[in-house]
Amino acid sequence: MADGDDPAFLAPDEVRLTRMSCPECNGGLAEVELSGFRYYRCHVGHQYSPRSLEAEQRAAVEAKLWSAAAALEEHAAMARHLSRRSDEEVDQGLAADYERVAAQSSTAAKLLVEELHQRRDADRP
Ligand SMILES: [Zn+2]
Repeated sequence: MADGDDPAFLAPDEVRLTRMSCPECNGGLAEVELSGFRYYRCHVGHQYSPRSLEAEQRAAVEAKLWSAAAALEEHAAMARHLSRRSDEEVDQGLAADYERVAAQSSTAAKLLVEELHQRRDADRP
């Protein structure tokens, strides 16, 4: 790409800011039209075709969903621990509340993991 084609030097009507963020650095993304091609570029220079942007965003969402599933399982484990500790302190009502919370988080985590496996299977050729 010649210096004159660098999006940083293009006229404003050739570069449109979007509400999307860069999958690599979280910076704002601009949509650039150049010689009939459309691509996306952030402030530090990460660039994506529409197809590669979709693939990167999908991977970023999947990573966040796996993190959410792990957080839900951790929450369930903590609630189970608190339930056991409450039993020892002869507070059956509180123990039952913690068990209910643990079951909710555990169920949500299992549903999320199941969805992630289905997505992964659907993406395989
Ligand atoms: Zn970036």
